[in-house]
Amino acid sequence: MFFYKFSHNSFYTRGYTWAYSWKNSSEYTKICPMCNSPLIVYPDNTIHLTVEGGIKYPDILGCGEYPFLIVSENMINDWERFGITGYKKYKADIVEVKGKRIKDIEPPKYYHIDVIGRAEYDLNAMKCQISIICNNCKRIQYLDSSGKIINVLPDSIIFKNNSWDGSDLFVDSLTPRYIFCTNKILNLAGINERTNCRFVPLDDKDPVSNKGLDYKAIAKKMLRDKRNPLER
Ligand SMILES: [Zn+2]
Repeated sequence: MFFYKFSHNSFYTRGYTWAYSWKNSSEYTKICPMCNSPLIVYPDNTIHLTVEGGIKYPDILGCGEYPFLIVSENMINDWERFGITGYKKYKADIVEVKGKRIKDIEPPKYYHIDVIGRAEYDLNAMKCQISIICNNCKRIQYLDSSGKIINVLPDSIIFKNNSWDGSDLFVDSLTPRYIFCTNKILNLAGINERTNCRFVPLDDKDPVSNKGLDYKAIAKKMLRDKRNPLER
């Protein structure tokens, strides 16, 4: 079984449009009564998006206002057909389109994905700590092993043995927008040539120049080698 970090790849691909804003975000933005920080309550409902620029619609749509995982109906169909687990889907409607070249193109239906599969980071092995700043809104900060604040999780992600619940899509509940997946998701995207997906191995560095794995080539090689790409 292989796991990957999974997201859109809009910073490394060209031509795809981008969700510039989430128009009904104010309905889900609250102020935490404990720490007075703004917090987003994850929308268990339809979101409304403005897309801007680009010349085509991708299968994974990046969003600038909030780190949603937004996937096309085609991708959902792949997932439903092959029994992908670990998520709930809600509609992500494009209500406004800006940009000359994208305006005349009919957008696909999109869904935003709330990942409900779970695993737990092995923070000792990752040489890092996560401290919860506020018990109410679960705001966190990352610390290195000496207790110094760091901006992001280390590049190498390690999960505790037996903490993965077996879902194809999963997160550690401390970082619900940092999404992981199985090789089944990668191979399905590769075989069906879904666009703008980003897969990075857990133990791999993720430098700015890294475009992520060539998932289409990986899936095709599996088919050529007559291996079952949907076996986990
Ligand atoms: Zn709070």
